Amino acid sequence: MSASPGVMVVTGASRGIGAAVARLAASRGFAVCVNYRSRADLAQGVCDAIIAAGGRACAIQADVSVDAEVVRLFQQVDQWQAGPLLALVNNAGLTHGTRGLFMDMDAEQVAKIVAVNLMGTLSCSREAMRRMALSRGGKGGSIVHVSSQAGVFGGQKIAVYAASKAAINTFTVGLAREAAPEGIRVNSVSPGIIASGEHIGQTAEQQAQLASSIPLQRIGSPDDVAQAVMWLISESASYITGTILPVAGGR
Ligand code: NAP
Repeated sequence: MSASPGVMVVTGASRGIGAAVARLAASRGFAVCVNYRSRADLAQGVCDAIIAAGGRACAIQADVSVDAEVVRLFQQVDQWQAGPLLALVNNAGLTHGTRGLFMDMDAEQVAKIVAVNLMGTLSCSREAMRRMALSRGGKGGSIVHVSSQAGVFGGQKIAVYAASKAAINTFTVGLAREAAPEGIRVNSVSPGIIASGEHIGQTAEQQAQLASSIPLQRIGSPDDVAQAVMWLISESASYITGTILPVAGGR
C-alpha cells in the first residue's frame, strides 16, 4: 500500500465497474468514498474488503440524480476528514430498463435516464471542482466520467441512454478546458460490452455471441475499465485532458 494520495469519490460503487474502480483505487492508496443508491449491503461489502486489505473506505448513500443529495454526499466526504479530495469517478448510471423503442417511452422514463446519467455527472463534477480548484484553495485533481461507446455509435433501442452518454462526452471536452487552469484534468472512459450491469443476467450462449462480435473476442471485465480509469487518474496521464478513451476491445 502506497502513502495516501487523498480522497477519491466513486459514484455507483456498490457493484460492477464502480466497485472495481473503488478496489483498485484503494490498493493505490486512495481513501475511497463508495457511493451507492440502494444496495447498502453491497457497498458495505466493498468497503469491508478494502479495509481488510489495509485500505481506507466509507460507504455513503446518495441518489446522484437529486442535486441536494449530491451536495450532502460531498459534505459527508468533507466530514470524513480523510484528506483532500483529489479524484472523482462519475460511474453511476442506469443500464437496466433503458432499452426500448423511443416512441414507446414516456416522459418520466426519459427524464430518469437523463437525470441519473447526465445530471448526476454534472452535479458531482460541480461539487468536486469546488473542492479541487486551485483558485478556491484546493489542490487540483482529476475527474473521470464513465461514458459508453453507445454515446459514439448510438446503439440499438438505447437512443436516450446513448444521447445521455454523448452529452457526457461533449461535457468532458468543454469542462477540461475550463478546469485546466484550476489544476484539474477531466477525461472519460468509453466502455464497450462489459461483464456487469445488464450483461450479468445473460446466458453463456448470449455472451458467446456478443464476444464473437468484438475484435478481441471477449467481453470486457470491470477490471479492464478500472485499469483505464486509474491510468487516466494517475500522474502517468498528467498531460492528458479532454479525451474520451474507448475500453471496448476494438469494437
Ligand atoms: P451496474 O452493475 O448496474 O451498477 C450500477 C451502479 O450504479 C450501482 O452501484 C448502483 O447502486 C449505482 N446507481 C444507479 N443509479 C444510481 C443513482 N441514481 N445514484 C447513485 N448510484 C446509482 O452498472 P455497470 O454495468 O457497472 O455500469 C457502470 C457505468 O458504466 C454506467 O455509467 C454504465 O452506463 C457504464 N457502462 C456500462 C457498460 C456495460 O456493458 N456494463 C458499457 C458501457 C458503459 P445500487 O447498487 O445501490 O443500486
